[in-house]
Amino acid sequence: MAELPGGIRQVTLPLPTRPGHVHAYLLPGDDGWTVVDTGVGLPDAKEQWRAELERAGGRVARIFVTHFHPDHVGAAADLHELTGAPVYQGALDYAQCELVWGNPAWSERLLEWFRLHGAPDDVTEELVGQSSVYRPFIRYQKDPILVEAGEMLDGWELIGAAGHADGQLCLLKDGILVAADHLLARITPTVGLWPASRADPLGDYLAALERTAELGPRVALPGHGDVLDDPERRVRELQDHHRVRLEETVAALGTKPRTGFELSLALFGDDLKPAARRFAVAESLSHAERLVWEGIAERHEDDGAVTYTAT
Ligand SMILES: [Zn+2]
Repeated sequence: MAELPGGIRQVTLPLPTRPGHVHAYLLPGDDGWTVVDTGVGLPDAKEQWRAELERAGGRVARIFVTHFHPDHVGAAADLHELTGAPVYQGALDYAQCELVWGNPAWSERLLEWFRLHGAPDDVTEELVGQSSVYRPFIRYQKDPILVEAGEMLDGWELIGAAGHADGQLCLLKDGILVAADHLLARITPTVGLWPASRADPLGDYLAALERTAELGPRVALPGHGDVLDDPERRVRELQDHHRVRLEETVAALGTKPRTGFELSLALFGDDLKPAARRFAVAESLSHAERLVWEGIAERHEDDGAVTYTAT
């Protein structure tokens, strides 16, 4: 556990897949800690948290989930059982959490979706199998207290930061932004188009980055990797990264219709493991869709396939 300015504690929990760890945060308050994010609900999650909370001392007043990805929401129920503290989660984020993790039919929906975007059958099965790896370790809290961007939570303002997840919320107080996966120091947060996601996740993300720069936090606390002491510089780097990737997507499009899967081969190469291919397809699609919004690309839906061409 690391001590950060303002009495904030950073708790680093293990992740069985890359990047190998996830950060949760303890924010101090008059009535106790606000725990931000929970790690994966691995079999020993409760023991891990018990040890961390003993080290921190004091009571937990509330638990806040920034977004429904496994490494953030996965141990919310464990932590609630351990502390009795209420769990807060964004309303849209919780709806998506239920849709994905509370829904046995989700794998089938994902399978159809990858087929629709041109993934060959053998690849599709493997992609979806990979995406189920975390499913047993997701113990989200049913019926949390639902919150919205703009509301306050123990003196912290909830900041909407759609993109990496549609309903991603960050917390801001005194120039400190608890950013979760909205801003990461060395990793580019994935921004993908998924079934039932918002129509233009990359457009959302670029807007959220601009808003982050306007808010001007002096430090950002990420879900993975190093604390960011110049958040605006990182915002500009991420904007540049997506500008370049959009140009690459334009270059990969022509008059011949290309599926999201084909675009992912052009943008990310053909040598990816299934887990990485899954994100590559979703990322390629979020860029293609942004270009559709900009009028640079066109989407075609016919014969059970979605394809893109340049306009
Ligand atoms: Zn995430």
